[in-house]
Amino acid sequence: MREGQATAIQRLDYTAPAFWIDTVDLTFDLDPAKTRVLNKMRIRRNLDVPAQPLRLDGEELNLARVMVNGGGTSFKMEDNQLVLENLPEGDAPIDLEIFTTCAPAKNTQLSGLYVSHDTFFTQCEAEGFRRITYFLDRPDVMASYTVTLRANKALYPVLLSNGNLVESGDLEDGRHFAKWADPHKKPSYLFALVAGKLVAREQQIKSRAGNNHLLQVFVRPGDLEKTEHAMNSLMASVAWDEARFGLSLDLDRFMIVATSDFNMGAMENKGLNIFNTKYVLASQSTATDVDYANIESVVGHEYFHNWTGNRITCRDWFQLSLKEGLTVFRDQEFSMDMAGSDSARAVKRIEDVRVLRTVQFPEDAGPMAHPVRPDSYVEINNFYTVTIYEKGAEVVRMQHNLVGRDGFAQGMKLYFERHDGHAVTCDDFVQAMADANPDSPLAHHLEPFKRWYSQAGTPRVRAEGQYNADARTYTLTLSQSCPATPGQPTKQPFVIPVSLGLLGADGRAIALQQEGDSEASGTQGTIVLTEPSMSITFANVDSQPVPSLLRGFSAPVILECDFSDADLLNLLAHDTDPFNRWEAGQRLALRLATAAIQAPGEWQQPLLPPEFLEAMRDVLRNPALDAAFKELVLTLPSEAYIAEQLDEVDPQRIHAVREAMRAELASALHADWIWAYEEHQTPGAYRPDAASAGRRALAGLALTMLCLAARQSGDTLWPGKTYQRFKDAGNMTDRFGALAALVGSDHELAQPALQRFHAMFRDEALVLDKWFALQAGAPDRNGNILPAVRALMTHADFQIKNPNRARSVIFSYCNANPGAFHRADGAGYAYWADRVLELDTFNPQVASRLARAMDRWRKLAEPYRTLAREAIERVAAQSTLSNDVREVVTRSLADE
Ligand code: ZN
Repeated sequence: MREGQATAIQRLDYTAPAFWIDTVDLTFDLDPAKTRVLNKMRIRRNLDVPAQPLRLDGEELNLARVMVNGGGTSFKMEDNQLVLENLPEGDAPIDLEIFTTCAPAKNTQLSGLYVSHDTFFTQCEAEGFRRITYFLDRPDVMASYTVTLRANKALYPVLLSNGNLVESGDLEDGRHFAKWADPHKKPSYLFALVAGKLVAREQQIKSRAGNNHLLQVFVRPGDLEKTEHAMNSLMASVAWDEARFGLSLDLDRFMIVATSDFNMGAMENKGLNIFNTKYVLASQSTATDVDYANIESVVGHEYFHNWTGNRITCRDWFQLSLKEGLTVFRDQEFSMDMAGSDSARAVKRIEDVRVLRTVQFPEDAGPMAHPVRPDSYVEINNFYTVTIYEKGAEVVRMQHNLVGRDGFAQGMKLYFERHDGHAVTCDDFVQAMADANPDSPLAHHLEPFKRWYSQAGTPRVRAEGQYNADARTYTLTLSQSCPATPGQPTKQPFVIPVSLGLLGADGRAIALQQEGDSEASGTQGTIVLTEPSMSITFANVDSQPVPSLLRGFSAPVILECDFSDADLLNLLAHDTDPFNRWEAGQRLALRLATAAIQAPGEWQQPLLPPEFLEAMRDVLRNPALDAAFKELVLTLPSEAYIAEQLDEVDPQRIHAVREAMRAELASALHADWIWAYEEHQTPGAYRPDAASAGRRALAGLALTMLCLAARQSGDTLWPGKTYQRFKDAGNMTDRFGALAALVGSDHELAQPALQRFHAMFRDEALVLDKWFALQAGAPDRNGNILPAVRALMTHADFQIKNPNRARSVIFSYCNANPGAFHRADGAGYAYWADRVLELDTFNPQVASRLARAMDRWRKLAEPYRTLAREAIERVAAQSTLSNDVREVVTRSLADE
């Protein structure tokens, strides 16, 4: 992990492997201190490339023996590679046998083979397999695996690997074995094994095609009753992929295993998905509605990888978005289809866009900006980013919109016909989409469309409308630009689909008739912007319209348009597109926030004018709108999103202004919040469906607002009711919502509630994570949060080596609590630097994620900027940094 200066790997340096590995036969003698791995491979020269030595990757392995075709051989070690120079020439198969040992119990990085709660797990993506055995650890080498696991039967009764169980039985000395064979070829990053004391929920299913499959969800004994939702989600995922894309489960057995020590969310190992417990375990008393929704989405995501990622995989890691962008798109569509109604779909879309804009847009504007298909990296683990995942999904979504739903299905079909069983590139995917839809705008603009994969940065689209009353025409001019990003000073135009409609002054949708067309073509259309600037004229427009642009967020761009307040109020009240309706409210709030933030000296109170409050009240009381949608509209833009709109960021001022706005919204709509709270109760049995969850979300927001209002008025009724709800709640959503309302308003009942909560859930790790996160993320009052965070780290339940727990305290503070983190004394940054250095000594991947918390330091106002730079420089000065953290801080400090 510490090999001096690492060099960057370049996409254009790709060459095919010099050898293929056809079969792998692995035998493990599992022991936490010293696990023995016998690796028998049948390999073959790739005659398409010049003859060269075999170079196998390996990391932290003890090599005991190497044999070629049954005999000894000479070999040498170069850096982390085992080099064999004298292999037989020609393309005859060669048998290679390598015997190594490793120490799973000492593996704190959680990459490769490791132990968690006396159970063995593996994590091989991206380059963890080389920590298990010497191998061509690259995704374009696909092999057939058989795996034999041997271990003490009492300690490790369950032995799992990919594919089908072909044999099992007892051995001497209380040991036993299991032999697994995977019927599908796979790259090494999809290998997995699990061994330990686990129990499973099982479900037999029959596919549409009539095949039987066994689904299993493995957890620690005691967690079984928390697996029902994960199993339901898995069954729904199987059914959905068959129904929507005709993709069936290709294995007799499909397993999910949960572990509480995991760096990421989950992993799509072939037939043996390994999950963070956070995305498996749920019961109404321990998990919130958001947890339930996340479980459904992550179970879906990993399952969908079985085709998009596993059957067709990536040629090299620069193509990561080939599988991740496409699979995120698929899981987003799955969640929308599961949610049902149009309005519930829109809610999911808004939530996804909110993540994109608050996390990915800043990434695209910061030092780690990279294209969806990057050109170089030092450490691939640093490129599991929101750009690869979420922006990648947007790029797939644009293709979906450009070829249509049926066209997209055709494109997927062609993609599998061409590439099933192979390791391919992002280009191969778009090419299949375009070839399946030769008359589509995607095919017509294919080369420029591909710039979405090669150019980093968020494009800006500027829209200007001209109404001509005499001619009754409306001309819309759209122009695009994209700021420079590291290594890419200039950009070429993107292909940007802009979905739009026009509203009359009365809010009614106007029929769209392009000048020159003989008749109108509905009330919604899409302009595909391909040039730096384009104009389009609509005829038969009776009065000055309000444009509703980028409906459904049809492209991942920043839209600039000089809307008047009246325009936005019109859109908020009447737009038929729910996304833009929400967006109009956000724009209004953002306008008010930025005006106050940028005002010299103290801002003018009240911050919220009557028209704004009236519009919010109208939405809240509108019987035609869903509760979930109302909750989104009535939530002000986040501090992070507001910060992104400003050239210079004073986090304290942003926090103060937003809090003041929230306080006004709480007080001004007091009677409405009471109404909303009382009208949106969910009596009866708990159900996590979108409609019930929406009601709970709105009631929760109302309660938060009532506690905020009480903070100003001194009212004791609502905090009291909130405490009561906290105690009596029948589900975690309501209980945690009430607790958060008390903590968020800093009420004196917050402390007793927190204590009680801890006592109730002291044995529920995932609930304790929430308990820690809530406190580390609480609103700062006079600098009280940092000392509280330090105190939390001394709590008996705090363990920095457990990633979920580390995230719950450290990340909640550094990443999700700007008002508390950005301190004028720089103590928040010093804390950050200490934690990055501490985490980096045992888990570089987690450390490197934390390092990203300072990405946007250059935008900070003084004194924050200077203090932030000093903290980053202190981290960079550490000579033993991992490649992971080194890459992040180096890019962060690089001159732009
Ligand atoms: Zn994925």
